Amino acid sequence: MYILIKCDVCPTQFKAKVKKIKVGYYKGKSVILHYLECPVCKHIHVTKWNTPAVNKWSDKVFMTEWNMRMYRKKPEVYEKYLLEYEIAKYQESKVINEVKQCLHLKI
Ligand SMILES: [Zn+2]
Repeated sequence: MYILIKCDVCPTQFKAKVKKIKVGYYKGKSVILHYLECPVCKHIHVTKWNTPAVNKWSDKVFMTEWNMRMYRKKPEVYEKYLLEYEIAKYQESKVINEVKQCLHLKI
């Protein structure tokens, strides 16, 4: 799958194939990093931290985002999903930071 992305370090816009690399284990499960590399400055853009502890929250983020789009015209339902979305986003980044610390990754 090719993704068009703008580098946030240099002004390059590039289209690249997502690469995958196994970076270690977190809570006994392998951690697969999905990333794109800028062809100019070699900056690594992480698109996904694939490991069960993170996926649990990423799936929740995806689901609530979808529900927010579905119910964008029903404020009372939308608000409920927005709250769930924010919690899931927060938990997702918290687990990602734990994984990074655990594996001593500076990405
Ligand atoms: Zn770049």
